[in-house]
Amino acid sequence: MNEDTGAFPCAVKIQMAEPHISNNPPLVCWSCHERSLGTHFCSSCGKLVQLAPNIDYFAMLEMPRKLWVEADALERKFLQLSWKLHPDKYASATEQERELSLRHSSELNDAYRTLRDPIARVEYLLSLEGMRKEGETKQQAPAELLEEVFELNESLDELREARAAGGDLAGLKARLQDAEKSFQGKLGAVDAALQSGAREWDAALDAPGGAPDVRKKLLERMNELLNRRAYLRNLTLNVAKELAA
Ligand SMILES: [Zn+2]
Repeated sequence: MNEDTGAFPCAVKIQMAEPHISNNPPLVCWSCHERSLGTHFCSSCGKLVQLAPNIDYFAMLEMPRKLWVEADALERKFLQLSWKLHPDKYASATEQERELSLRHSSELNDAYRTLRDPIARVEYLLSLEGMRKEGETKQQAPAELLEEVFELNESLDELREARAAGGDLAGLKARLQDAEKSFQGKLGAVDAALQSGAREWDAALDAPGGAPDVRKKLLERMNELLNRRAYLRNLTLNVAKELAA
């Protein structure tokens, strides 16, 4: 888990079991041979089903591809499903069912680990929508920050030099702390912008026809915000590290 957990203090209710659940074509149940609509269990006979190929994390948690998720509701859903899918429950079942239970459980854990983190959730959605490769961040300074970043780097150099020369560090450190605070403020603004992007995304999904043009623009905007966030975070971590040295 990274430190980003809880970056969105979300208070809006999650809407489970709604439209926009990722659609997977019905599979034929290995046990009763009916076409099954369930993600985890056959809608006909109730047995564990084969996981659909390319099933995504949202579908694993039986939720729509929405970004505004209430942490408690998500946890409840996860616990409920993991209890139902738990390998202990299949200890005396057939080998096939034991294997299915292991697969479902492990995928469910991965899904929960990703979706409970608001930033990872946005990143994941962007990768699902083809906007972002997993783990990809651009470390390019946003143009309007160039000057401030340049000054910051100068201050960092001065601090290192003063440290090496045994000079007075207090004034330099105070300047860096101010700079760090300023960048932290920008980071907060990025998180706020991501939050409103998340709400707009959910609203677009609910709009008639799913507002594809609006969603495309939102994906682009959120992608830029994530890049900016990664850049700012890296910057503030570097300053913190230098101040603590
Ligand atoms: Zn069945």
